[in-house]
Amino acid sequence: MTIYNFSAGPAVLPHEVLLQARDEMLDWHGTGMSVMEMSHRGREFTGIAAQATADLRELLAVPANYKVLFLQGGAHLQFSMIPLNLLRGKTSADYVNTGEWSKKAVAEAQKFCKVNEAASSADKKFSYVPAFDTWKCDANAAYLHYTPNETIGGVEFNWVPETGAVPLVADMSSNILSRQIDISKFGLIYAGAQKNIGPAGLCLVIVREDLLGHAPASTPTMLNYKVHADNDSMYNTPPTYGMYMAGLVFQWLKRNGGVAAMEQVNIAKARLLYDAIDASNGFYRCPVAEADRSRMNVPFNTHDAATDAEFLKQAEAQGMLQLKGHKLAGGMRASIYNAMPVQGVQALATFMQDFARRNG
Ligand SMILES: *Cc1c(COP(=O)(O)O)cnc(C)c1O
Repeated sequence: MTIYNFSAGPAVLPHEVLLQARDEMLDWHGTGMSVMEMSHRGREFTGIAAQATADLRELLAVPANYKVLFLQGGAHLQFSMIPLNLLRGKTSADYVNTGEWSKKAVAEAQKFCKVNEAASSADKKFSYVPAFDTWKCDANAAYLHYTPNETIGGVEFNWVPETGAVPLVADMSSNILSRQIDISKFGLIYAGAQKNIGPAGLCLVIVREDLLGHAPASTPTMLNYKVHADNDSMYNTPPTYGMYMAGLVFQWLKRNGGVAAMEQVNIAKARLLYDAIDASNGFYRCPVAEADRSRMNVPFNTHDAATDAEFLKQAEAQGMLQLKGHKLAGGMRASIYNAMPVQGVQALATFMQDFARRNG
């Protein structure tokens, strides 16, 4: 039986990448060493890191005045590193609240500064993206933070806010590399690796250089972006194996047409599931406004919890795993990141149709 893993994260990795990692596990390129056993300062690993960085820069067309950092502490640590480093003497920052991850970013930022909630979709249970012309932005804000894809709620921006001189900061943990983006519109982008990049334990940061070097002197060394930038992410021992795996994923993306090609596949995959939901005569419901439905995380449910539980049981028996919705949302959630093959999504869509016919 073919297994399809719909986990929200840590999530499925490209099968080819896992095979390559297996083949290179004990002896990387004839060195007689596993990547896990290499000094991070040795020529082998610095080569791996440089290649991964160059490949990512190419995939996302990262402009020369941006640094790419490989950090630890997950996206959660960024919730505090961002205010620590980007307040630059200012006292407030704008945050857009579109769901659970936005809320966590806000709660952490409030320890460092005044948070101005520029927009919120709390009025409709975080089921949509507030229209930009309703946002109340502060021209004096140190930056504006938003969450382009709410992994739990399944709400995704299909546009980028225009914040003028106020640096735009984005938590792209669950949709980085899934669609084309213009990096130059952002001051800082961050993403925990375990959804669309590689194994957990690595966090990617892309930051514009003029935003570096403004952290207060009291900032812990490890929380200062400039320290990591000045040391090519090797101030201390970086998460070497995670960086190697991310590098293999970047190579896999390049072999498969890069982000532009991936975006087309992702559009098609998402359509298969939303079509299955919309064509079910109300058997399945997706709580998200149509225009703001995520291409990466598709939440849905049936009319009652017992039917949801039966759905999950039968899906699992057919090899479709980790479809249970987040505990805050209930129901089901299909996460269909880059590494989820079209065949997996087709299998799920077919099962959804079949299950609805038998239980409708
Ligand atoms: C998963 C996720 C996080 C949390 O990532 P950690 O690496 O566990 O800290 C934050 N934001 C978004 C949008 C996520 O999807």
